[in-house]
Amino acid sequence: MSGFQPEKIRVDFPTLSRRVRDRRLVYLDNAASTLKPRPVIDRMTRYYEDEVSNVHRGAHYLAEQGTIAYEAARAKVAAFIGAASPAEVVFTRGTTESINLVAQTYGRANLNAGDEILVSELEHHSNIVPWQMIAGERGARVRAIPVTDSGEIDFAAYSRLLSTRTRLVAISWCSNALGTVTDVKAFVDAAHAVGARVVVDAAQAIQHLETDVQALDCDFLAFSGHKVYGPYGIGVLYGRAELLEAMPPYQGGGSMISEVAFEKTTYAPIPQKFEAGTPSISAAIGLGSAIDYVNALGLGNIEAHERGLLEAATRALRSVPGLRIIGDSPRKAAIVSFVFDGIHPSDIGSLVDQEGIAIRAGHHCAQPLMRRLGVPATARASFSVYNSLEDVEALRSALVKAKEFF
Ligand code: PMP
Repeated sequence: MSGFQPEKIRVDFPTLSRRVRDRRLVYLDNAASTLKPRPVIDRMTRYYEDEVSNVHRGAHYLAEQGTIAYEAARAKVAAFIGAASPAEVVFTRGTTESINLVAQTYGRANLNAGDEILVSELEHHSNIVPWQMIAGERGARVRAIPVTDSGEIDFAAYSRLLSTRTRLVAISWCSNALGTVTDVKAFVDAAHAVGARVVVDAAQAIQHLETDVQALDCDFLAFSGHKVYGPYGIGVLYGRAELLEAMPPYQGGGSMISEVAFEKTTYAPIPQKFEAGTPSISAAIGLGSAIDYVNALGLGNIEAHERGLLEAATRALRSVPGLRIIGDSPRKAAIVSFVFDGIHPSDIGSLVDQEGIAIRAGHHCAQPLMRRLGVPATARASFSVYNSLEDVEALRSALVKAKEFF
């Protein structure tokens, strides 16, 4: 973990200076939401203090400033994910809305009876349910791509499921429940070979891995601001320009039109066509700052630091008697899911919380995966830039204590 100093980074995150249950906060629920660094908070405050105004509308100075900042955020996102143009970046409320947008527009326009949508068994519910909804409406069929015992999407099984009936493939780059990192490019290439489009859920990848949508060659990619040090209420849908252009709009309203008449309404060019109504302006600007923050740290450094934490946490947790790690893919982001003999995951969560340690317990919005792995739920520790070996040790010792308690 050389050159990367979590103690210095910690200072940027005001929440980390607060005490929880009269102890130092050990925040290990980063897969749910990361904490927010000072520059992001300050940038949003500055927008509200100095620039507040609606975008793309007013003829006045403040509206112009707000619009410039909002569009600058879009350009930052485009560069961050390697999009060919900012027009390919649609601001949404988050990953969930991004995926629903594709299902409700691209899906409704392109799916027909007998078509198939392949969705892996390790998906978050937000990458399953929208497909079930549109499949039900269009007479299409959602088929599950199996997951192996180690928690990886089974590529061989996927290859067997792919056919000319496959219209869409929806997969996570990184599993929120297990941390498994999928070789998305291989899945994309195989899908394209049968003429299917691929939607990548990058909610758990964007904060850990360098994203280059052109190198991945994916058709759509979705993520949320709040998991990459940004604010709530903002997310991104990347879509290939030619696909976005051909898709019908999502919601109707202001800002998404070119001209409205009762006889015929025409729509704005992309990405405005998909941004009806007043957007989450301050959150988009905050996301832009979060991206600046990540760029300044360097995703390569972040990856190396988190890899060190993952290895240390895996070793430490394996040493806890009765603890079993769920998901042992050799390619994982810094997420460790586990169960304990005889202790329900939610009890584990409550016991370590008494020590000021925040982890997650539950099905992680991945019930099909839990069923597949034969567990009702898991406890999950997920690591980030500001975590350290001290945090890993705090978790290990709290788990040993929890085990003794039962
Ligand atoms: N996909 C994955 C893999 C996730 O981890 C999450 C959030 N837990 C989502 C989708 C949904 O994100 P959001 O709730 O921000 O829309």
